[in-house]
Amino acid sequence: MRTIAVLNQKGGVGKTTTTVNTAAALAAMGLKVIVIDLDPQAHLTIHLGVEPQTMPAGAYDVMTQSAEFEQSLMLTRPNLWLLGANINLVGAETELVSVVGREIILREAMHRCHEQFDFCLIDCAPSLGLLSLNALAASQEVLIPLQPHFLALQGFGKLLQTIDLVNKRINRDLKVTGVLLCMFDTRASLPNEVRADIDRFLTNARGSNSAWADAQILPTFIRRNIKLAEAPSYGQTIFEYDPTCNGAADYRNVARFFLGIEPRLDGQDETESEVESEPETAAAPDPVVEHEPQEIHHDPEPTGGADPVMENETVSEAPSPDAHHEPELLSNPDPAPQRDTVPAPWDLQHRPESEFGAGSAIERGPVPEQAPSESHHELESADEHNAEARQETPEHPPIQIQEFQLPAPQTYSPRPFQDEPASPASPPEPAPAHHDEAPNEPHQSHDEPEQIGF
Ligand code: ADP
Ligand code: MG
Repeated sequence: MRTIAVLNQKGGVGKTTTTVNTAAALAAMGLKVIVIDLDPQAHLTIHLGVEPQTMPAGAYDVMTQSAEFEQSLMLTRPNLWLLGANINLVGAETELVSVVGREIILREAMHRCHEQFDFCLIDCAPSLGLLSLNALAASQEVLIPLQPHFLALQGFGKLLQTIDLVNKRINRDLKVTGVLLCMFDTRASLPNEVRADIDRFLTNARGSNSAWADAQILPTFIRRNIKLAEAPSYGQTIFEYDPTCNGAADYRNVARFFLGIEPRLDGQDETESEVESEPETAAAPDPVVEHEPQEIHHDPEPTGGADPVMENETVSEAPSPDAHHEPELLSNPDPAPQRDTVPAPWDLQHRPESEFGAGSAIERGPVPEQAPSESHHELESADEHNAEARQETPEHPPIQIQEFQLPAPQTYSPRPFQDEPASPASPPEPAPAHHDEAPNEPHQSHDEPEQIGF
């Protein structure tokens, strides 16, 4: 199983949209996919049509070790399982502060799933806290969605450094796979400037031992597309809501990227303002087989069906785990024209044992048939959870995140948001109601806007 953390400590950059729709595209290609909602706002959960408060078990229960991972998964679509979130998750970081090994709880919880699934995408909260650390510790790859607007690169260095530290201290397998440019407007010059800067930086890192040495800007990008913003309020993926829109085409390309298939870039110079499309009315999606999402609130219209295009894009053979798949597509999948607060609290120092024990597991496991294996701590940090041990092993100092200085600060002009008031140091995540979010607005303002830390 390839586990990919979709991470950017900024909110509103496209993490959730990317997680849902990339996973849905992979699932429609026949791959077995898990999505994990590690954001207490539960946008991913809602986006898949699941009511967060009605879930019997979810990410909170797994993180607090009161439910088994496999038994907390919900099959929400064919091939697409969800470990959902609800607002309880907001308390997890605090509750776990005294838990030994708290940074690898998720990793250990998932370890029995590796043979049974092909992909796991983790939608991270817009922070670099303990939940995101768990995502990084459990993943082999990081995908960084980034909205290439002014200030897009502010904090980018810190994000990369954080990933690098996790790679060096906790998870040797972790690397940054790439940067996905979301809400990209090809007509504007600024996004292209941002792209060129990232490209230059990543190119300079080639051959280094950093976790991003092999990272690239994904060859496909996600155009701004109103359908992508509308789909969540119907609890639908983009392939259910409007399989012919630009957003659907773009996320199919992201899935192809992960499968090692050439993207189809036709039409990426189109803008959604040139071609708008109405969502297609189609049959309701196939009901979930084993575990119905509870009380899915789908508005009556527009209705979406299982994506006929995606259904054709089925991988001919069941993929083998941990492999980079290069499946043959059975038919042309795109016949339709294109329309359209740092530092983190992971000092890894000794804390007293947690009161969390193996609580009552919730009995609704959809998948696993493997016999449970003993929990084990394989990471160096996992078996060195106390300060004494760390003092004895000077090569493992506590993680301390410091501002990472990337070379050559650059000035962008014009300054489109210079009239915005300065915000507190810690940028707020947009309002919880996903349909109220304003995707066009930057989610950070600043005192010295001309300095990009990159
Ligand atoms: P994050 O998870 O990083 O906070 P989201 O994926 O929730 O970001 O996206 C933020 C907002 O932007 C949401 O309302 C989403 O529907 C919208 N959005 C995401 N991608 C696009 C896009 N390509 N075009 C238009 N709107 C988008
Ligand atoms: Mg989100």
